Amino acid sequence: MTTPYPFEDTEAFARGLDAEDPLRAFRDEFLFPKGPDGKPVVYLAGNSLGLQPRNAGRYIQEELEDWARLGVEGHHEGRHPWLHYHELVTEQAARLVGAKPLEVVVMNTLTVNLHLMMVSFYRPTKQRFKILMEGGAFPSDQYAVASQVRFHGYDVREAVLELKPRAGEETLRTEDILGMIDRHGHEVALVLLGSVNYLTGQAFDIPAITKAAHAKGCMVGFDLAHGAGNLKVSLHDDGPDFAVWCSYKYLNGGPGNLGGVFVHERHAHEKDLPRFEGWWGHDKKTRFQMGPTFEPLPGAEGWQLSNPPIFQLAALRASLELFDKATMAALRAKSERLTGYLEFLLDRLPPGFVSITTPRDVKQRGAQLSLRFKGEPQGMLKRLADAGIVCDFRKPDIIRAAPAPLYCNFTDVYRFVRTLEGHARD
Ligand SMILES: *Cc1c(COP(=O)(O)O)cnc(C)c1O
Repeated sequence: MTTPYPFEDTEAFARGLDAEDPLRAFRDEFLFPKGPDGKPVVYLAGNSLGLQPRNAGRYIQEELEDWARLGVEGHHEGRHPWLHYHELVTEQAARLVGAKPLEVVVMNTLTVNLHLMMVSFYRPTKQRFKILMEGGAFPSDQYAVASQVRFHGYDVREAVLELKPRAGEETLRTEDILGMIDRHGHEVALVLLGSVNYLTGQAFDIPAITKAAHAKGCMVGFDLAHGAGNLKVSLHDDGPDFAVWCSYKYLNGGPGNLGGVFVHERHAHEKDLPRFEGWWGHDKKTRFQMGPTFEPLPGAEGWQLSNPPIFQLAALRASLELFDKATMAALRAKSERLTGYLEFLLDRLPPGFVSITTPRDVKQRGAQLSLRFKGEPQGMLKRLADAGIVCDFRKPDIIRAAPAPLYCNFTDVYRFVRTLEGHARD
């Protein structure tokens, strides 16, 4: 199933699509690095580190000023009092992933949050101690899972079940994922998948996987590192028990910025759920009585440990405001066309030069296409860099190109593929 849009392989056509793009103004809200010619680069690496929103610096500066002006009083007297600062992003983050505000909190970083969620939702027993995950998941997820398994005293080789593509195939088939859950679900404590695989760009069917896993009595979590701000997801309705994501990829929060956590409403009031506790997860009304006994806040906020870094949150506010203005529905609509245009142009390159390993089905991918090239990559990478095109390379032979719909346009995609073509024909 390829993309349904009628496209043309000319720069004039790409410019025409840009002119009628309802989201085109958002490009001006970002700061672009400059290429060798001094002009803004074509930035296709937003799946790795998103660009800086124009307002990020101003929002951070405001908090620096309030700190200078008010010292400790900034917690209450600042323009945006720090005591409640993280709440400024909760509703936006919830809209972004299709959740209720109660179900979402912005805190920590992704791998930390993954551990905190597994503390609560990976509760192995002798009969049911396995974790089902993607083979070749992002390394941090593999390390987190393996260390949790060992922490509970199980053997990783026995306890971690990995999903692998069929021989000769690049990506997983949904039927195979569901089949694995059906066959092994009774011994699986937790099904943990990405929403989009970082390497193949494949997006998984969150509702179908969640339903199948719950039918077998498993807990279900998703890592939305490459999904948040990329796909339109509906976590509340789809019903996984938890999800985690980072904010520096499609969400443009800046390097190392705070991640997000979703805990489904059904767990919002389970006070006895084991968790690692800290004072910021304690009931707000009585937190400053400094009592000895932990009273968790209802919902995802109850998993907070520490008071959050305000400057990071300030940068994230600048980005999430833009997502709120654009809406995920409109971004996803543009993204399907933009990535579809990339696919269309790539398919017209000389045969055998490049193959797309990401699924052709629009529903099974986000913005990113993963490209496998023939030949050694160094010449190609240099050519792209010289042309002011930023994308990334994963050993041994994959180039990942992700036109983020918030700030990339059709002309960017056109320029990228023309540069590849120059290389293909040399
Ligand atoms: C980017 C990414 C991470 C990075 O984790 P941090 O804790 O934010 O450094 C982890 N898992 C996946 C799937 C990712 O794509």
